[in-house]
Amino acid sequence: MGVFDHPDYDGHEHVAFGREPVSGLRAIVAVHDTRLGPGLGGLRMWPYASEAEALTDVLRLSRGMTYKNAMAGLPHGGGKAVIIGDPRRDRTPELMRAMGRFVERQGGCYITAEDSGVGVPDLRVLSEATRYVTGIPLAGADGHSGDPSPATALGVFTGIQVAVRHALGRDSLQGCVVAIQGLGSVGSRLAGHLHAAGARLIVSDIHRDAVERAVADFDARAVAPEAIHAADADVFAPCAMGAPINDHTLPEIRARVIAGAANNQLERPGHGAALHRRGILYAPDYVINAGGVIDVGAQWGSYDAQQVRERVLAIGDTLEQVFREAAAAGEPPEVIADRIAERRFRGG
Ligand code: NAD
Repeated sequence: MGVFDHPDYDGHEHVAFGREPVSGLRAIVAVHDTRLGPGLGGLRMWPYASEAEALTDVLRLSRGMTYKNAMAGLPHGGGKAVIIGDPRRDRTPELMRAMGRFVERQGGCYITAEDSGVGVPDLRVLSEATRYVTGIPLAGADGHSGDPSPATALGVFTGIQVAVRHALGRDSLQGCVVAIQGLGSVGSRLAGHLHAAGARLIVSDIHRDAVERAVADFDARAVAPEAIHAADADVFAPCAMGAPINDHTLPEIRARVIAGAANNQLERPGHGAALHRRGILYAPDYVINAGGVIDVGAQWGSYDAQQVRERVLAIGDTLEQVFREAAAAGEPPEVIADRIAERRFRGG
């Protein structure tokens, strides 16, 4: 199958295949849409079973970034890159420099950043060969940590406040019960915000130490990972991996709100419609978890921490708009979010 007739092609502006025999680089850069600005999205390194699998992944991810960046109000279109390889075995400085040269050859239509399998040290090596990289820590007065997780957690916290007000008519999170799945970089910070706001927490993680910390620090109640989606909570906040809303979990969800950081929370679009039928308010993942890309996008320009904070808090306004339009149209929020994003990047 070629690229143009690929089911996930969706009018991509630019798809480039990079190969370099000396370093062993095999990579793809995909830029979906640049009408709002150069494509911005992370670089993922993954041991894809085939080139076809890598192509499918990069096309889907890059399209997703167009929607995410548009909804976050960023001057960026959607792009993404993948390296075919095992990050534990194949990730060498030579490979990253080759990737940097490949990104540079795209001439600025794609700006790269961190994603699975690629960390800040890799980005530093990449930056030896390309200008088009962001998410590297910067020291000094206008410095930043490079880590997008605090911004993501703040955005999700704000989104939960808006969703709870919309679905439950509550202006405060005091006494509200939130079930958090995954206590990693984002989930643990989200737990801190929620605890400070007076919410009661139910938590789970596959790592025991993360759970023990949340129990000690935030007076959280721990449940087994396979039970968290069914917790007796007001809000279910997925902050781990995978597709937490699926055929198995959906009938067991008791929360009235689903609002968390995880990417691709709905296994299939039909699951969003099913939540809607059940009266469960779903905060579209790419809208509520955009704090990270807002932060990384700002690192591309001249970084202003206060401005980043304001933009992250504005995720609440965007969600409000999505929920209001969804209620008026009687349609699921993720359908409305896609429509608003398309209006923004297509114009009109
Ligand atoms: P992370 O790897 O730091 O944390 C994930 C946590 O989930 C880990 O503690 C892991 O042990 C736990 N986990 C994995 N499977 C689990 C399961 N079945 N049940 C319970 N816990 C489980 O990742 P992160 O940076 O905190 O990101 C969390 C999610 O948010 C991911 O889906 C990520 O793609 C998404 N996201 C993150 C950012 C960001 O800024 N870090 C931005 C946007 C979206």
